[in-house]
Amino acid sequence: PGTPPLLEVRGLHTRYGRIEALGGVSVEVPAGHIVSVIGANGAGKTTLMNSVMGVLTPSAGEVLYAGESLRGVPLETRVARGITLVPERRDLFASMTVADNLQLGAYTRRRGGWRADLDGVYARFPRLLERRRQLAGTLSGGEQQMLAIGRALMARPRLLLLDEPSLGLAPLIVRDILRIVQALRDEGVTVLLVEQNARASLAISDGGYVLETGQVRLSGPAHELARDKSLGASYLGG
Ligand code: ATP
Repeated sequence: PGTPPLLEVRGLHTRYGRIEALGGVSVEVPAGHIVSVIGANGAGKTTLMNSVMGVLTPSAGEVLYAGESLRGVPLETRVARGITLVPERRDLFASMTVADNLQLGAYTRRRGGWRADLDGVYARFPRLLERRRQLAGTLSGGEQQMLAIGRALMARPRLLLLDEPSLGLAPLIVRDILRIVQALRDEGVTVLLVEQNARASLAISDGGYVLETGQVRLSGPAHELARDKSLGASYLGG
């Protein structure tokens, strides 16, 4: 047997009270891949991300990370083991500076080295360096997304969970963000990417899953999904 996928979600069920948002979802993310999860509003994409991160506790099924179950493993421990979520709402500290937001991203790190990582983030996002003393709440939407990703990188993730990074951003900025995601993958970060922007996300992905009302409707190599006729009208803009 080869090495297990870095992330394996097996038959996951997650509920909000009586509402079942995930009804037995299975997803595999091999190390070094970008895997996209696409689907309409309410399909369960954010619920899946939060279930992997440990923000939500699934009622059944299993999340395996590097072959080990994450059942009962608290969120902070997951971060320390290399899982980091960039949530849809970005959750920045609006009244703190860019630099302070970035520094907070390193909070679970036991050892030092955050200064070098900060330099790394500024090298990747020169815009954040220029604006390091500016309050996060006054950044543009694209800059806030860069800050949210930069902050996640401060935790040195092996597995980066990105929940709709392009939400509300202009097409040129979306392209920049997706380029950065590709660069991270090329540097060895494994990415689970939630996107409504299906065509653009599949174009940079290795694999993909289509979620519909809490179930996987379709999955496969990204280039095949991008050509799938049944997806065309609903997800790929015709
Ligand atoms: P979007 O693209 O709109 O963010 P999504 O695919 O991420 O959608 P989820 O946010 O995971 O979908 O929601 C899945 C289902 O669970 C939806 O029917 C939603 O109404 C429901 N849901 C989500 N959060 C809650 C909550 N806190 N309480 C009750 N129901 C919820």
